[in-house]
Amino acid sequence: MMDNKKEKEELRGKNLVELEAILQRAGFEGFRAKQVYQWLYCHDIRNFEEMKNIPPALRAWLVENFSVGGVQIIQTLTDADGSKKILFSLQDGLHIEGVLMPKGRRWTLCISSQVGCRFACAFCLTGRVHFRRNLTAAEIIDQVQCARREILNGESPTNIVLMGMGEPLDNINALIPALHLLTAPQGIAIPTRRITVSTAGVVPGIRALAEAKTGVNLAISLGAANDTLRSRLMPINKKYPLPELIKACQKFPLDNRRRITFEYILLKGVNDSTRDMKNLVSLLQPVRCKINLLCFNEEPRLPFKPSTPETIERFRDYLTEKGFVVAVRYSMGRGVKGACGQLAAGYLNG
Ligand code: SF4
Repeated sequence: MMDNKKEKEELRGKNLVELEAILQRAGFEGFRAKQVYQWLYCHDIRNFEEMKNIPPALRAWLVENFSVGGVQIIQTLTDADGSKKILFSLQDGLHIEGVLMPKGRRWTLCISSQVGCRFACAFCLTGRVHFRRNLTAAEIIDQVQCARREILNGESPTNIVLMGMGEPLDNINALIPALHLLTAPQGIAIPTRRITVSTAGVVPGIRALAEAKTGVNLAISLGAANDTLRSRLMPINKKYPLPELIKACQKFPLDNRRRITFEYILLKGVNDSTRDMKNLVSLLQPVRCKINLLCFNEEPRLPFKPSTPETIERFRDYLTEKGFVVAVRYSMGRGVKGACGQLAAGYLNG
């Protein structure tokens, strides 16, 4: 029997204007778009039959032509520290990961933007996962909806970080509509200040994010404060070296109280010398920023060791003395191997 479910277009991911156009083109009243929008984003339906105030003819037409809710949670592993690693399946059978991290009564949800990643940062396991494809806007949003419905008893996560699998700014065409839909006041309504997009330094993506006026926070995974070392640890630096990256950060629009976050993962004997510390100060002095010092989560498949607690303290004290806002972050979800959790740990206080 032929399965034509995969051929149907996903309706989640469309904004109100697009829904209106779709319905009107098919001869339905435009005002129904608002009702459909609310079912998709406020009530988080998983099939069109749940749309109670929609006429049967429209429901039948939607069933015939569109799909909804292609992302599913297939496994959740809870660590001793309370964090939960989530395995999502996509409609085409591929998988992505997310992590929910608790802090008191708040939850930070780390979500993915791609299946695999093209960027191969030396300290990241995801970089070793062969790139398969970009996620759609619907798949980005659906991770939040699934976690809200199945784990958080209908509550939205307090913070969302795009630091899971993939480089979000390498998927800007899906990311921007997804951010608009996640933050739309008449829909999912997550405050913009509660969402952070983390990038390895895709400079054109930083500019595009700035131009899209989504209002979300920006984080840069830095890894090193000089071009030679950074290009070794994060090959994207060869394409967009530090001076270009810093210039793009300086131009990124920030309202009065916000700062760009720079994540600096401390690797023993690699980027934790006194000289590295001084380079970091000179590099970041011209940017309104805060610095998260991330403790490397030792992993046998990666050729690095964590810096000693004394080194981490020395970095923190020196940067603080130089006037930076600094935090030291430890990864959560070690027991369940938090997806890219090395980086996501930086956002628990968001
Ligand atoms: S840190 Fe981010 S950009 Fe770098 S390899 Fe991992 S997922 Fe890709």
